[in-house]
Amino acid sequence: MTGHVHVIGAGLAGLSATLALTARGRTVSVYESGPAAGGRCRSYFDRELGMTVDNGNHLLLSGNRAAMRYLDAFAGRSAMARPDEPTFPFLDLANDQRWAVRPNRGRYPWWVLSRARRVPGTRLMNYLALRRILGIRDDTTVYAMFRQEPLYRPLIAPLTIAALNTQPEQALARLLAAVLRETLMAGGNACLPMFPRGGLSAALIDPAVALSASRGATFHFGRRIAALEIAGGRVISLAGPDGPIPLGPADAVVLAVPPWVASDLLPGLQVPAAFEAIVNVHFRIDADPGPAGFIGLIGGTAEWVFVKPGHVSTTTSAAHRLAESDADRIAASVWPNVRTALDLPAPMPPCRVVKERRATITATAAQERRRPGARTELANLLLAGDWTATGLPATIESAIRSGETVASLLTG
Ligand SMILES: Cc1cc2nc3c(=O)[nH]c(=O)nc-3n(C[C@H](O)[C@H](O)[C@H](O)COP(=O)(O)OP(=O)(O)OC[C@H]3O[C@@H](n4cnc5c(N)ncnc54)[C@H](O)[C@@H]3O)c2cc1C
Repeated sequence: MTGHVHVIGAGLAGLSATLALTARGRTVSVYESGPAAGGRCRSYFDRELGMTVDNGNHLLLSGNRAAMRYLDAFAGRSAMARPDEPTFPFLDLANDQRWAVRPNRGRYPWWVLSRARRVPGTRLMNYLALRRILGIRDDTTVYAMFRQEPLYRPLIAPLTIAALNTQPEQALARLLAAVLRETLMAGGNACLPMFPRGGLSAALIDPAVALSASRGATFHFGRRIAALEIAGGRVISLAGPDGPIPLGPADAVVLAVPPWVASDLLPGLQVPAAFEAIVNVHFRIDADPGPAGFIGLIGGTAEWVFVKPGHVSTTTSAAHRLAESDADRIAASVWPNVRTALDLPAPMPPCRVVKERRATITATAAQERRRPGARTELANLLLAGDWTATGLPATIESAIRSGETVASLLTG
């Protein structure tokens, strides 16, 4: 196929498809219903705080290979804050104990032999037990597999909730295995944590739009596609806000929208239907909050605290219950965690609570079975999105990989 490609949705999946397609010389039009690109991974100016913040803290690991390729397309790794060595600092709020998990660089994981690099009170055999997860092919949950392990509370549960956005009692062990195989178990070089130093849009979104546009892609913002017109087993036009957008005989469509929009546009398509919330709280910090970094909290309402320019942000994942509380109550329960973690003075600064109620699909067996592949029954329509069947939980890596997949299918 050599026709025009119409990408619906300018989240990371749509942008990754657009970058890959334009790199191979294809002409692409992107239709995005929102005023800007980014979808669930974006920055915005918050009037209350008087600064640009992200919809939520996003962490990548250097083993996220597709995400690294995506960043490398526009030399974007320099916009990411990352420590020199793979380091995951933690604080247990129950006993004020602090430690850091510090995998060594290189493939041979000698760090598990070093007490100074492990979770306090754990032994080598506890880490070896983790390898059992690599053999899991069935619907075993993380909880069923590891609840008796000493590493469950201080490491396995926090990693599961962060990477799968699902409580370990429901979370599929094989999806956690897919993440661990490419990161923690691939050696320290694959688990350097990174997050955008100056915001998600500046680091991950705007440069991809600019590069794609320089290669000829056209972006149409504020253009919601309301329907697909289908005839003869193909999409023949898109219903845009200014009227129909007709497709040529060799044109293709990439549907890179959230699952609930995809099933509206393509009735009969089975998609995941259960979602989990993520709650972030951004606190404006007028004094210098210190160098960019993050810390994991055990036993708090906040699970991760990120230090960023001018503000400190918390993340609580798998948070549908917390998201039911009002914003003041959430901020009041999170602030003491932040104070303790960063040793900040008492009065709570101005803050913004961001509830993303459908942050990702849940990583359960029932939802996993509902994730469709990239191809559809229509000859010229492909699906992309973190919720498609990528073999990974719904993450940036999954979204970007899905975009690469559709680009490969369209370019052979
Ligand atoms: C608070 C939060 C924290 C997260 N933290 C992490 C993290 O730390 N690490 C990680 O890897 N992942 C994280 N994620 C997940 C990550 O953000 C998503 O996996 C990724 O952004 C999904 O990209 P996508 O392109 O698949 O979907 P989306 O970003 O949802 O993109 C879909 C796009 O389609 C547009 N659209 C919808 N309907 C239409 C229509 N009819 N016509 C045109 N356009 C339309 C939308 O506006 C949107 O821009 C987090 C998510 C959230 C919400």
